[in-house]
Amino acid sequence: MSKIVDVLIDFLFPNVCIICGSNANNIKSPVCQTCISKIDYIKMLHCVTCFQPLPDGGAHCWQCKKTKYHFEKVIAVGKYTGVLRDLILKFKERDLLKDALGELLLKTLTINLDASLIDYIVPVPLSRKREFKRGYNQSVLLAEFISNKITKDVIKDNLVRVKDTTPQFELNREERLFNIKNVFSVKEPLTFRDKSIIIIDDIATTCSTLEECSVILKRNGAKKVYGLVLARD
Ligand SMILES: [Zn+2]
Ligand SMILES: [Zn+2]
Repeated sequence: MSKIVDVLIDFLFPNVCIICGSNANNIKSPVCQTCISKIDYIKMLHCVTCFQPLPDGGAHCWQCKKTKYHFEKVIAVGKYTGVLRDLILKFKERDLLKDALGELLLKTLTINLDASLIDYIVPVPLSRKREFKRGYNQSVLLAEFISNKITKDVIKDNLVRVKDTTPQFELNREERLFNIKNVFSVKEPLTFRDKSIIIIDDIATTCSTLEECSVILKRNGAKKVYGLVLARD
């Protein structure tokens, strides 16, 4: 029912910002530029590997100093707080945010990585149950948006989730690492052989999901793996 109401509201008030309710914006976007400008972007002073903000400077966070990840680096738009957090939560219910969030992701990607280094874009797969319930995988929508802009293919059915898991946000760090082990599998290994891949997800907290995907992709011959997420928690 609420979805029908949402669709009706969008139809009647197409320019109302989904976050602040302001209708002052003329752009056909569900979120206004004022709200976009309030995002807590991660710019300078972050870990070069996992993008964790480092207010006191330095190249690596304490976690990356002691961990050898299988990905080259993770890139994130902003901190998981305020407007960005609200947008990500709304994105789980409504797919109309894909262009606005895709645009943020694209900007962050082009600032931090040479897109010509990438061969394929791979969204983190949801469990079938969750994707069916939601009607879409938000990471696939973001991957498709990026794909159109940088003209690299999305490979969405080759990295698959073979185990349903407790949502990571309900767990602590140790539990997350254990929870995500052996969750993914690759169907056709030849596809990824010697390819550089960028994995798309919405949030990275411990990076354990990105790491587990990277382990599997590398095991199946991937040359380099990068992570691109909306928020770093
Ligand atoms: Zn707004
Ligand atoms: Zn780090």
